[in-house]
Amino acid sequence: METNKPYRVLLYYMYVPIEDPEEFAAEHLAFCKELGLKGRILVAAEGINGTVSGTVEQTEQYMKKMNEDPRFAEMVFKIDEADGHAFKKMHVRPRKELVTLRLEDDINPNELTGKYLSPKEFYQAMQDPNTVVIDARNDYEYDLGHFKGAVRPDIKAFRELPNWIRENKENFEGKKVLTYCTGGIRCEKFSGWLVKEGFEDVGQLHGGIVTYGKDPEVKGQLWDGQLYVFDERISVPVNRVEHVIVGRDHFTGEPCERYVNCANPECNDKILCSEENEHKYMRSCSHECRVHPRNRYVVEHGLTDEQVAERLSKLEEASEAVN
Ligand SMILES: [Zn+2]
Repeated sequence: METNKPYRVLLYYMYVPIEDPEEFAAEHLAFCKELGLKGRILVAAEGINGTVSGTVEQTEQYMKKMNEDPRFAEMVFKIDEADGHAFKKMHVRPRKELVTLRLEDDINPNELTGKYLSPKEFYQAMQDPNTVVIDARNDYEYDLGHFKGAVRPDIKAFRELPNWIRENKENFEGKKVLTYCTGGIRCEKFSGWLVKEGFEDVGQLHGGIVTYGKDPEVKGQLWDGQLYVFDERISVPVNRVEHVIVGRDHFTGEPCERYVNCANPECNDKILCSEENEHKYMRSCSHECRVHPRNRYVVEHGLTDEQVAERLSKLEEASEAVN
């Protein structure tokens, strides 16, 4: 697995009090820029959550410096090798929360959280028939890849998850509950909330899917599809034993793992589609998006009104032929 590529992508978080997040963010941005890193870091009074890319040397320096700060001495960095930067710019932003859950009673994961399970423990626990596995990510992340049999909450944003659980509580009662997310940060709070909500046996995948995919024993098994990541790579592999494609082309339902954003700037939804269908459907998720006056696909390809009309009528003919 180690290929000695020249760049790395780091993913990390830590729930630890940071006194003045605004000031910290400004200083940290200067520090990251000086090192030559690119990426996105969130800072809040409750801690830090970041993903950055840089050369092996730059990322080494960053990790060393961070671990020298007593607040971040225990911080774990997940490291991916890469051919180049995975971001265009460097941002460090102060925020109210590291993950947007907006609970009435906020959870401090250092005081209340689900049981931490190693990849191997999680792999074994998942196979217990009295266990329900809940994906704590967004729908478009699930659609590209997820653990076999995991529940896909019908929500558009993470903050809707607690309500969704309450509404569907009868499906989870009396069962062991496992949660997972990309790097583990969302589950720290979500699993804590589950415990507080009265679920007795709650486990979370420690280090998230990223760590699970690197575990030498488990090798990402029981994961189907790819892992959605929040950088220019968009997706990375997890299961090192077999690759089952679960993503489906938005237009044809064919197996597909290629994400694009809807060309309607007001929609911008992530849609899975082949290159062929991207052009056929003008990279738009619906007819309404296709005819939006500021459609980005139309602009990028310099299509005239006549050309757009011609494409639309072709799509209409095709859909009539199917019906
Ligand atoms: Zn759309």
